[in-house]
Amino acid sequence: MTVMNGLYLHIPFCVKKCSYCDFYSVPYTRPLAERFIGALETEIGLRSHFFPDGHGSVSTLFFGGGTPSLLAPGTIASILDSIRDGFSVDGGAEITLETNPGTLTPGKAEALLAAGVTRFSIGVQSFERDELVLLDRIHTAEEAEAAVKAVRDAGCRNIGIDLIFGLPGQTAARWRNTLEKALLLEPDHISAYALTWDSGTVLGRAILGGTRPAPREERVADMFMAADTILGAAGYRHYEVSNYAKPGHVCAHNLLYWQGGQYLGLGPSAHSFSGNRRSWNISDVSRYIDVLSQHQLPMEGGETLAEEERRLERLALALRTDTGAGLDLIPASSPVLERLSAENLGSLRNGRFVLSAAGFLLADEIALLLSEEDKKSRTG
Ligand code: SF4
Repeated sequence: MTVMNGLYLHIPFCVKKCSYCDFYSVPYTRPLAERFIGALETEIGLRSHFFPDGHGSVSTLFFGGGTPSLLAPGTIASILDSIRDGFSVDGGAEITLETNPGTLTPGKAEALLAAGVTRFSIGVQSFERDELVLLDRIHTAEEAEAAVKAVRDAGCRNIGIDLIFGLPGQTAARWRNTLEKALLLEPDHISAYALTWDSGTVLGRAILGGTRPAPREERVADMFMAADTILGAAGYRHYEVSNYAKPGHVCAHNLLYWQGGQYLGLGPSAHSFSGNRRSWNISDVSRYIDVLSQHQLPMEGGETLAEEERRLERLALALRTDTGAGLDLIPASSPVLERLSAENLGSLRNGRFVLSAAGFLLADEIALLLSEEDKKSRTG
């Protein structure tokens, strides 16, 4: 089996915190960003032997965050140079930059492409003004449209946008409107995420405290199915629970995660995975910089997955995709498989069990059920 290698770079700066966000990020200041870039370059050098010899080259790089599009194109170019010095990178590697529409101009889009970015993932989230206010986004719907147009006019032919649904007070009609406006922009890839909330975010606390209505589960499920229908009819392949792509535009970096590839995460809070070993970096940019100034790895922790845990994880990730799980992970026949098929939640196709859109909604629960069946069939 070919092992795919990916690099994830966490750029931990934002203009301001969005109300629903639980990613690690701090307010952008130039002096801190400059110190961070120095530390990141050190980490790149220290980690250049992460992928075992003979395990191929890096085929995907993903600048995430945070807001990587806050960095100057020259900085992105110099980070990419350091990566190419430390790692073997495929000539045709997918290089994605997460982009906040409030941080992009046509000139910057051109310069980022010239720096080596091949794919933009633009955080549009909604085309409804009051939803963008609720989410505390720094941009308007018009600015989001302008950002998509800017990267396309600059020559990018691999553009993804992110949308979010299941917001407090959001109606089915408003979600449909956002999907239809998204289609008018003709992106190559659309990620549609259901809002998740907990006490760690401003919006989560508002929902838990009762000042914002909790999105109703059945309504969120209807919005998920509406996205499947509307985007499917427009020619997008629903290739993972939250992701849709035009032919030839599946995100290779995402696929690497779901297909069990190995990846190295650089930057504060970034996670890495290789073999059965997962590790993660310090979630604090100042400590991250301090540790690297002593030429030490900025790792916070790690764990080795037991064989059964890894098997369940592989199954759960495979079931999230439209290529499903192979019969090496689940029994070829069982009462559970038959019931799932009878309820149109999934079906066996060419020796793989593939979930339907309705099955995607229950992917985690189904993974647990099938994992139990699998264990039973192996232990008799
Ligand atoms: S721009 Fe992205 S990373 Fe930054 S606060 Fe908003 S959602 Fe979080």
